[in-house]
Amino acid sequence: EPAGINGSSQPKKVIVLGGDGFCGWPTSLYLSDQGHDVVIVDNLSRRNIDVELGCDSLTPIQSPSVRKRGGMRLSNLALISSCDRCLLLPSEIHERADYYMYLSACPGGNALSSNLDNNSVDAGDDMARSFRHGVNLSHSRFLLRFFHFSPTLFFAVQVRVQAWKEVSGKDIKFVNLDIAKEYDLLVQLIKEEKPDSIVHFAEQRAAPYSMKTSKTKRYTVDNNVGGSNNLCCAVIDSEVDAHIVHLGTMGVYGYGTSGGEIPEGYIDVILPGGREANILHPAYPGSVYHATKCLDALLWQFYQKNDQLRITDLHQGIVWGTNTPQTVRDERLINRFDYDGDYGTVLNRFLMQGAMGVPLTVYGTGGQTRAFIHITDTARCIEIAINNPPKAGERVEIFNQVAETRRVRDVAKLVADQTGVEMNLLPNPRQEAAENELDVSNKKFCSLGLDPITLDEALFNEVTEVVQKYKHRCDPTKILPASFWNKKRAEECASLD
Ligand code: NAD
Repeated sequence: EPAGINGSSQPKKVIVLGGDGFCGWPTSLYLSDQGHDVVIVDNLSRRNIDVELGCDSLTPIQSPSVRKRGGMRLSNLALISSCDRCLLLPSEIHERADYYMYLSACPGGNALSSNLDNNSVDAGDDMARSFRHGVNLSHSRFLLRFFHFSPTLFFAVQVRVQAWKEVSGKDIKFVNLDIAKEYDLLVQLIKEEKPDSIVHFAEQRAAPYSMKTSKTKRYTVDNNVGGSNNLCCAVIDSEVDAHIVHLGTMGVYGYGTSGGEIPEGYIDVILPGGREANILHPAYPGSVYHATKCLDALLWQFYQKNDQLRITDLHQGIVWGTNTPQTVRDERLINRFDYDGDYGTVLNRFLMQGAMGVPLTVYGTGGQTRAFIHITDTARCIEIAINNPPKAGERVEIFNQVAETRRVRDVAKLVADQTGVEMNLLPNPRQEAAENELDVSNKKFCSLGLDPITLDEALFNEVTEVVQKYKHRCDPTKILPASFWNKKRAEECASLD
């Protein structure tokens, strides 16, 4: 019997890769709330890209208390880093000492942490633990890791996890790890945690960012395809029979190319010679980012066939909304809200512009039809997928994770009517058809109990309230498109400035 949305399945151990992101964070809280044991893995690259682009989440995902407690003097940096998971609580140090572990494994660690207060563990004990975990990082590796990421960011994630513990009584572990670059640590983590499921959100997910420069194109391919390949290899090497649940995108199908309802992943075809076959829906990516999701799909297919990995690929629509019943429980749990030209997804961008009273930026004629899903349903769908893994040897399970499809200009009109702002038609920075139809099947999730939330004005109010509350944090210069698909698009957009 499949376990549906409130299925009676046993609680599971779940690693959430990319669990600090827009979808990953609320999903982690939802899974934890449902009784699953959650470990978040994230290298905080998304926060670093914000720094690179000079943007920030509209919502304050870093609590101000971070800045009060943290300092930027070297001794404080050591304190923050070493206590990132210790939380300065002696009783919890044993479960959460990974960063201290790095410190103590470094010859300079003791000097750096000489200012630790009484809550610290002594170096001998800590060194023993670092060996128990089998990690022995060199001094230079430690320094690299230490200075590459801002320690303030380490601390911010810890504040989130700590806040969840306070409001729910539940533990979520956080591990800072790059799945595309730190293969051995990924294998070790899977061996130690022995997860039932690994949810994979950890990719560079903005199509515009992926099209910005050769550097961002190459980064997106290396990070996304490398990370997915590493994940498959790590599951095989660790000999843990974990079910992989990957977040793919509706964009793998290509928009409006099939001419009918898009099925869930596979289509019937007649091959040359007349043989009938059921194959993966042809891939037709519209950006480098979407191309990585198509390449992912081939990797899933190969590793399932070759190594009998159990894999579910979720072809998700554009996610909208901000908070979920879990993230509203404490301001420190607030979810990320991207509004900039690269990361701001279309509906959230319109809702923000509406609330700010500035014209809605509709690209081209707004004739593109897109699939949408609310953030609360993203989390629910992930749990359904976790509760309904394919059996060993079964082909990759594919769900279309969408609630509905709408034309962009119709969505803009909904927001314009509600807020009274105008629609501003801008040249399209993307290389795509001006108009397309999109008809998508989502029968599998619905048959497993999902009753999807649709674009409802009441929910618009939630986002509008969030935007009103934090609009002082908005930098309006970041709203317009900042990435163009090719030189022609860039020139067209520039000529109409
Ligand atoms: P996000 O950028 O907010 O979150 C992704 C997280 O993964 C970030 O916290 C980032 O730091 C982390 N990450 C990236 N590379 C990593 C690596 N190599 N190692 C460890 N962590 C890494 O994105 P999101 O909106 O939460 O999207 C999550 C997933 O869902 C993505 O794969 C995306 O393609 C997919 N998706 C999102 C949407 C949407 O509308 N947001 C729509 C369809 C599909």
